[in-house]
Amino acid sequence: MKFGGTSVGDIARIKNVARRVKAEVDRGNEVAVVVSAMSGVTNQLVAYCNDMASMYDQREYDAVVATGEQVTSGLLAIGLQELGIKARSWAGWQIPIISDDAHGKARIIDIKGDNILAMMAKGHVAVVAGFQGIGPEDRVSTLGRGGSDTTAVAVAAALKADRCDIYTDVDGVYTTDPRIVKSAKKLDKVSYEEMLEMASLGAKVLQTRSVEMAMKHHVRVQVLSSFEDKPGTLICDEDEIVEQALVSGIAYSRDEAKVTLVGVEDQPGIAAGIFGPLAAANINVDMIVQNTSHDGTTDVTVTTSRTELEHALKVVKDNMKVPYRSIDTDKAVVKVSVIGVGMRSHAGVAQTMFQALADKKINIHVISTSEIKVSVLISEEYTELALRALHTAYGLDAA
Ligand code: ASP
Ligand code: MG
Repeated sequence: MKFGGTSVGDIARIKNVARRVKAEVDRGNEVAVVVSAMSGVTNQLVAYCNDMASMYDQREYDAVVATGEQVTSGLLAIGLQELGIKARSWAGWQIPIISDDAHGKARIIDIKGDNILAMMAKGHVAVVAGFQGIGPEDRVSTLGRGGSDTTAVAVAAALKADRCDIYTDVDGVYTTDPRIVKSAKKLDKVSYEEMLEMASLGAKVLQTRSVEMAMKHHVRVQVLSSFEDKPGTLICDEDEIVEQALVSGIAYSRDEAKVTLVGVEDQPGIAAGIFGPLAAANINVDMIVQNTSHDGTTDVTVTTSRTELEHALKVVKDNMKVPYRSIDTDKAVVKVSVIGVGMRSHAGVAQTMFQALADKKINIHVISTSEIKVSVLISEEYTELALRALHTAYGLDAA
């Protein structure tokens, strides 16, 4: 069981979590619990670091921000003991959860489950501080914002748990953002692959890495509400889903910016010359379009994250040797993606999207596709209109 920040937001809520854990124990389950920091706490800790210095040692940042989860793990262990349940807290280093040295966004390399399993065998509930591990030099590390989800899935994999239940402030994964499309439906099941696309394309329910980890280790993950008593959405293998819809969900991301290099020469080595410096500066490029040339020159359009745009432009201006006529940028764009494993075996899925957008007179700037998704870049002002039109076009509206 994993509980996010709002679910452990104050003492009353932590007591509520303790009751939920006790209910699982009473049902005869052996339970490990992973907790986030109380809501707002991690932001506060990050702010402290920023107030201390504009550039800081990432290892010390980790020492600071990892404390939030330590507080909640101890409090929940106390709460469980109060209910007569044997429990103890575990910091990342005590388990240990071994990570690499990418402080601030470390990756889990290995988890030794033996310590926890031995205690669980004696009837103890293990309460694990999420988001943290221990790096190569015995330094506390953290796994990137939202990293408690990844802790939960990794612990579930290490313990060979039957399931990893992620309790949060929404009651599951929806066909699209229910705040925008009122007729959005909760999905009973969604495949790992689809969830991975949804998470990386902007749906904020789970940290993307946690889904990668679940897929790799075949951990069945359920996303459900910590405030209601009903099943949520199960993220599982495709084979477990009997009635597979053509399109399962529509995701969107506003963290996009479009950059066009106008009038670059059309000859070998140009793409390598453009993307080399960006890659060297660790800038992620997402969609890429290059047109055919007529006068020996062509335009190259790429998208990158809005937060990285300034950095990307600086790299292009300072480090790129490929000549170009001019550079255009647009930050008021959004990427909308339709996702479904069903489209692997069906034609016409993209056309449904293009027609629905055409009917609403929405212009498409860039298109990209993969086996199970079609993404378009459109002007941000049409986000809501596009989501609603697509939700209807793919028959996803709730009856
Ligand atoms: N507390 C951390 C954060 O806010 C980790 C998490 O909650 O998943 O990012
Ligand atoms: Mg989270």
